[in-house]
Amino acid sequence: MGALVDHVASYEGVSYLPLMTTYDHDLFVIGAGSGGVRAARIASGHGARVAVAEEHRVGGTCVIRGCVPKKLLVYGSHFAEDLVDARRFGWTIGDKGFDWPTLRDNVLHEVDRLNGIYKETLANHDVELFHTRAELLDAHTIRLAPTGDTPERTVSADKMLIATGARPLVPDLPGAEYGITSNEVFHLERLPKSLVIAGGGYIANEFAGIFHELGVKVTLVNRGDTILRGYDQALRDRLLQISMTKGIRFVFNCDVERIDQTNSGIKVVVKGDDPVEAEMLLWAIGRRPNVEGLGLDAAGVALTDQHAVAVDADSRTNVDTIWAVGDVTDRIQLTPIAIREGHAFADSVFGGTPTRVDYDCVPSAVFSNPPIASVGLTEAQAKNRHGPVKVFTSDFRPMKNVLAGRNERSLYKLVVDAATDRVLGAHMIGPDAPEILQALAVAVKARLTKAAFDETVALHPTMAEELVLMR
Ligand code: NDP
Repeated sequence: MGALVDHVASYEGVSYLPLMTTYDHDLFVIGAGSGGVRAARIASGHGARVAVAEEHRVGGTCVIRGCVPKKLLVYGSHFAEDLVDARRFGWTIGDKGFDWPTLRDNVLHEVDRLNGIYKETLANHDVELFHTRAELLDAHTIRLAPTGDTPERTVSADKMLIATGARPLVPDLPGAEYGITSNEVFHLERLPKSLVIAGGGYIANEFAGIFHELGVKVTLVNRGDTILRGYDQALRDRLLQISMTKGIRFVFNCDVERIDQTNSGIKVVVKGDDPVEAEMLLWAIGRRPNVEGLGLDAAGVALTDQHAVAVDADSRTNVDTIWAVGDVTDRIQLTPIAIREGHAFADSVFGGTPTRVDYDCVPSAVFSNPPIASVGLTEAQAKNRHGPVKVFTSDFRPMKNVLAGRNERSLYKLVVDAATDRVLGAHMIGPDAPEILQALAVAVKARLTKAAFDETVALHPTMAEELVLMR
């Protein structure tokens, strides 16, 4: 108990338990995405009087136009291969056809359902929801934009949390507006026959996989000569090779000059190379924090060089009464991180339990086809930080692919500290890699040794058993 009291006492300038203040709210959250909703309901659970402003739909990027609808499209598109493979397993498949509006509408209905659940969660936790845009006037005052019959209002709060997320980056190029972004991609009236995806990161590779499976001719144009920077080289090479074999076209070192409209779609004009034409263009070149028009200047909130809200390890801005979590800050742009940051903020500031997010060993996945999943250090990072490392790989064809006659190999890789035998990183590409890696991440986070992996009996026959059989 003593340690906790000391820790609490050292966390200066913050009141932990809700005080009756003269403000309308103890906490005002701007943005009802993953981080904002978690912070709001946890703070409310600690007894704070909480309000949230959201100008779009409750749920944020992940639920409304990101992780959730994307994953459902991944499932939907994968049937293209499953239906082909099924024949080798004895199934008679008649003429297969695909109806985009059915998949699109079912996915959007699921998004509606989740949006409803998120709104219910806020209501059940007595969080007041303002369906409008909020702007800071100073460190305690918020202006709420007029909506419908409700005129502009001003409310006050003791503390504020910025959780406005990020938005897709559209470059400042002539004709850039002819492209769509991941915001619009879930609502397409019909599928294009051909698609150019600009970018080589998460969104580019995930949608390349989805649209290719749905029968769209996909070309990925990227400014560099590599995809998925940050992932282990061996996995990136394997995804590139498999994607090209499937028929996705890659154009690297592509310096886009402008986008022209054509009779049938768009033309991506590239410096020093042939233009790339398609019916549609999708920008997937990163996401930028939503900091504009929030009144951050008026409140005196400082930004980083990357135009994100600058925060310390406790998500606190330079203004004593204002915190920020999630993609609007310059940390890791992943939903579970925003949720943890929101939760830690609420526990620290309103729950009397100072908590910091641990960013070590954060697992991540790319839902490409096949998917990639990773935790810990890549081989290159491990060598830089720890010196000699041992690398164990398993390069195999999953038995389902063998019977299906699908020449697509999986690759699992463990990076081990040669001095301590600790597994520093685990990297996988292959069917269900993200599902397997979530459990593996526990072992890597727990600093288990390669010997502990070896002592574990294989679960046969699975793909995951490869993880304990690498010698
Ligand atoms: P990423 O950061 O993953 O990739 C951006 C890509 O665009 C890179 O290839 C980058 O090249 C290139 N690029 C960056 N700036 C420019 C520019 N100005 N002009 C041309 N090309 C450029 O971004 P995404 O948009 O794919 O995704 C945004 C973020 O959303 C991700 O970083 C991730 O955090 C999150 N996300 C997570 C998902 C998941 O967890 N599965 C799924 C989707 C998104 P270079 O490598 O040279 O920098």
